[in-house]
Amino acid sequence: HEEEHSVDVDDMGQDLERVLLDREQIDARLAEMAAQIDADYAGRDLLLVGVLKGAVMVMADLSRHLHSAVEMDWMAVSSYGAGTSSSGVVRILKDLDTDLTGRHVLIVEDIIDSGLTLSWLLSNLRTRGAASVEIAALLRKPEAAKVDVSVRYVGFDIPSEFVVGYGLDYAEKYRNLPFVGTLAPHVYAD
Ligand code: 5GP
Ligand code: MG
Ligand code: MG
Repeated sequence: HEEEHSVDVDDMGQDLERVLLDREQIDARLAEMAAQIDADYAGRDLLLVGVLKGAVMVMADLSRHLHSAVEMDWMAVSSYGAGTSSSGVVRILKDLDTDLTGRHVLIVEDIIDSGLTLSWLLSNLRTRGAASVEIAALLRKPEAAKVDVSVRYVGFDIPSEFVVGYGLDYAEKYRNLPFVGTLAPHVYAD
């Protein structure tokens, strides 16, 4: 009786406005991205670098569609500056355990908005002697087009709205939603 127990937009105390991408859509797209990654990295050892905390779900589900054994490591970064927009000045809260020398690295991200965080991360990891550094992001907003950061694998281009779920939070909540959705306006108003 999986249907009876599935989480939908009526859960979480009516905080949600609408579903943008449901779990089936997300999983189907991650399978396609994984097939592309498998093909591109055939015969090479791959290190997936997940960006905490938002990329946890993408990492878990994308990696399980891959047909080769990969390594995983995690970084936590924080953008300086107040508010909801990032400043481009990034602080490392948790660094990698892995030496990147000669490694093929694929950064796994939840969303690219201004692109400033990823742009910083990309150049940071490239200084560590990796053989290659590419990016896979589940979501991309229109703003990202203004920054010169090439994202090799993109799940979905979405409108410029604040989204939650599937790893993405609002004040640390809603990461556990199995879909990507928008919040009802009253949540922000509180
Ligand atoms: P950027 O540096 O590309 O502007 O943003 C990077 C980070 O901002 C993302 O990794 C994510 O944590 C957060 N972010 C950007 N847009 C959204 C959004 O629509 N919803 C949520 N929950 N976080 C976002
Ligand atoms: Mg992120
Ligand atoms: Mg956040």
